[in-house]
Amino acid sequence: MHSFRFHQWLTCEITTDDGTVGIGNAALAPSLVKKAIDDYYSPLVIGEDPFDYAYIWEKMYRRTHAWGRKGIGMVAISAIDIAIWDLMGKLSNKPVFKLLGGRTKEKIPVYYSKLYAGTIDAMQAEATEAMNNGYTAFKTRFGYGPKDGMSGMRENLKRVAAVREVIGYDRDLMVEAYMGWNLDYTRRMIPKLVQYEPRWLEEPVIADDVRGYVELNKGPIPISGGEHEFSLLGCANLLQEKAVSVLQYDTNRVGGITAAAKINAVAEAHQIPVIPHAGQMHNYHLTMSNFNCPISEYFPVFDVEVGNELFYYIFEGDPDAKDGFLDLDDNLPGLGISISDRHLEHFDIDE
Ligand SMILES: [Mg+2]
Repeated sequence: MHSFRFHQWLTCEITTDDGTVGIGNAALAPSLVKKAIDDYYSPLVIGEDPFDYAYIWEKMYRRTHAWGRKGIGMVAISAIDIAIWDLMGKLSNKPVFKLLGGRTKEKIPVYYSKLYAGTIDAMQAEATEAMNNGYTAFKTRFGYGPKDGMSGMRENLKRVAAVREVIGYDRDLMVEAYMGWNLDYTRRMIPKLVQYEPRWLEEPVIADDVRGYVELNKGPIPISGGEHEFSLLGCANLLQEKAVSVLQYDTNRVGGITAAAKINAVAEAHQIPVIPHAGQMHNYHLTMSNFNCPISEYFPVFDVEVGNELFYYIFEGDPDAKDGFLDLDDNLPGLGISISDRHLEHFDIDE
């Protein structure tokens, strides 16, 4: 079995004339994103008014369009845009969700997102503990793909069955392939998975295989994806093509909060729920302020093993889930996070 790990994160700070600091972040290829910000994006932002966020976004997007509209460039735009929204919140003394549409839920329901493929016993123990901690929705990851043949298929199915055995059928179970499968393999897996009633099958094929998503999404299991898609137009294309039944853009990749808010409107028009990829504050603010975001992904805090946990170690203020819900503070301006120094000894910091 192989797993995808990233152990780097980028934080992006913007300081206004009065000394207010907005904090953004990005998780993909931080050293390259930092270089792109330093060389290309920060000169476009310095001197602007953060409340002209739509103009700043468009300027960053258009000036770098030839090379920046997907991948590293859009991740850089995302990090800066998130910092700008944090600034707008702090400067107007409101939490970001209050600038986006306000409170649409008393609390945000979350789903427990871990359950990596391991031994059956370990997975069942983990699911039991999560259930005892009050979670009512769970996501598990497949550990086997095309190169593992029929026996790998059976190993995948055994693990889904094992988690279902623990959580029963009155709770949601999501299943995730993280692009580790291909179209042929997924076509063969879906009929075998149907009996376990997954809420969705996530990213079965690579992000660019939109036609594959379209075909699979016509089948009996809702297909989710979008965490590796970029920009409003990229996500609009997934929606127009009916490629996904649940859209999971990643705010710090897709173009930040400015792009995410526009995508939310398009998704609502297509009646496709949005459940942003990952926990993390920027996603919680978007979820809190949007009726069409029913639940948040939540990475429970463990020792760093995959990289998903890093946000918790880098930022102070990311809310802990309790009994399957989390809440945002009505009185905390901006995103409500600060850079933590509690775990600094575990990091190498590149200034
Ligand atoms: Mg995913």
